[in-house]
Amino acid sequence: HLVASLPCYLEENVDRQRGDGVYQGSVDALRILNDLGYGIDPDLSLDLVYNPVGPTLPPSQETLEEDYRRELDDRFGIRFTRLITITNTPIGQFLGDLKRSGKRGEYFDLLSDAFNPDTVDNLMCRHQISVNWNGFLFDCDFNLALRKPVIDPNVRHISDFDLETLKNREIYTDNHCLACTAGAGSSCGGALVGKEEAMAERNHE
Ligand code: SF4
Repeated sequence: HLVASLPCYLEENVDRQRGDGVYQGSVDALRILNDLGYGIDPDLSLDLVYNPVGPTLPPSQETLEEDYRRELDDRFGIRFTRLITITNTPIGQFLGDLKRSGKRGEYFDLLSDAFNPDTVDNLMCRHQISVNWNGFLFDCDFNLALRKPVIDPNVRHISDFDLETLKNREIYTDNHCLACTAGAGSSCGGALVGKEEAMAERNHE
C-alpha cells in the first residue's frame, strides 16, 4: 500500500508549492507505479494526498477525488486508488509561515468556526498511537513533532505497553487539534466524517 503526496493535478500549482519540475517527476513516478500494478491491482493500493497550499480548509474529499481521477486519466492515463485530503496542522513550519504572513489568528478562527463534533469519534489519537525512534509513545504524529508524549507516565514507553491503559488514557490536546476537527475532519487516512461508509465501500471493492 503506497501513499504519495500530490497537492494538485495541475503542474503550475504543484511546482509553485514544491519546486520546479516536481510535477513532471511525480507524473513519471506514478506512471512507473501504474506499470507495476499500483493503483490498478486491488492488492496494490496507491493513494494520493492533497493538502491546501495555504491557510484554507480542503475541499470535499469525494468531489476532489473525482476531479483528480478525471484530470490525471485524461492527461496521462494515470490511475490511483483513493484521494486523501488533509488539513494543514498549525505547528512547525506552517505555523511559522502563518505568523510571518500575519494570518495565524485568522487561520485558528477558521478552524474553530468549522469545528465538527462528528469528527471526534474517528480522531487518529482515539484509535492509534505513534512511536518515536527510541520507543516513546505519543498520541499522534503531531504530538510527536511537538515532543508532547502520552500524559500517563506509566505507559509512556513501548516497554510499558498496556492496551487497556492506553485505550483509556487521557490525550494531550491543544489548539493544533482544531485542524483534526474542522469541517469533514483530517487524519493520515483523510477526512473523518463518513469514514466508515468509505471504508465499507473500499472493503467491498
Ligand atoms: S492533533 Fe490532537 S486531535 Fe489530532 S490526532 Fe493529535 S491529539 Fe488527536
